[in-house]
Amino acid sequence: MSKAKIIDGKKLSNDIKKEVASQVAQLKLEGVSPGLAVVLVGDDPASQVYVRNKASACDAAGIYSKVINLPAHTKEHELLKVIQELNNDEIIHGILVQLPLPAHINSANIIQEINPNKDVDGFHINNVGLLTTGNPNMKPCTPYGVMKMLESEKVPVWGAEAVIVGASNIVGKPMALLLLAQGATVTICNSKTKDLSAHTSRADILVVATGRPNMVTGDMIKPGAVVIDVGINRMENNKLCGDVEFESASQVAGAITPVPGGVGPMTIAMLLTNTVEAAKRTL
Ligand code: NDP
Repeated sequence: MSKAKIIDGKKLSNDIKKEVASQVAQLKLEGVSPGLAVVLVGDDPASQVYVRNKASACDAAGIYSKVINLPAHTKEHELLKVIQELNNDEIIHGILVQLPLPAHINSANIIQEINPNKDVDGFHINNVGLLTTGNPNMKPCTPYGVMKMLESEKVPVWGAEAVIVGASNIVGKPMALLLLAQGATVTICNSKTKDLSAHTSRADILVVATGRPNMVTGDMIKPGAVVIDVGINRMENNKLCGDVEFESASQVAGAITPVPGGVGPMTIAMLLTNTVEAAKRTL
């Protein structure tokens, strides 16, 4: 039995999706029908599931979605051309390239080709720079979703000790910047961090995004902390688990996100939010 409050990402994401749907309806009245293009290269089964989920979330919210499936042997210049066409396509307001791309394609080159105003993932270097300088354009969906969770749970961020385990460009680093912008004192840990527990155990807000199943355990957590588990790991029994060991952590934390049903659904809700935001700017 968990002592911590379970932060229900599914419910919050449904609330956000409803709000998105009503904004989409309003935009349509004003003559703009938001559209998202999702580009998938290859046939990675996990990526196919993610792309399907994104497309069906768009449908439910009234957002037009176009899925472009390209074979794994697609050349970099061919993919660049697809991006250029989408940049010029007026019915497409958001472009998302499902990562990872096959090894022969340089992901950075592809992301750089996306029009920054259609970069609903927030990965274009212009958008990274704007986030870094505290003037965000498109916020990366997963950390944006985490900020929404903290806001909805009324977690005080100003002056809080926030520790992020994981320093990737898509989760850890933008997470740190968003928390910093809200006045948290932020520490980012990586695989070289010498004494991880020394950092995690003083966090008021602990965000874990490493891709290492169950690596943060209850004894590494400050009593009463808010623990956000970004990890999604498929185990041998086919069940999903996070990067935080839920059983022990939920005995110590004040609030915790479950896996599944925590951060995952929020990422999609924020993708829809960014797409609508991009569409609004064309008015
Ligand atoms: P990456 O592999 O890109 O980055 C992992 C980060 O964790 C790296 O910075 C790495 O350090 C750090 N790390 C690895 N092992 C340790 C360790 N033992 N101690 C401290 N730090 C460590 O992963 P992502 O950021 O892309 O994804 C992380 C997790 O989040 C995955 O489970 C992924 O599936 C999930 N995810 C979930 C999303 C959602 O919607 N909920 C969206 C995106 C990702 P170093 O820099 O030194 O290598």
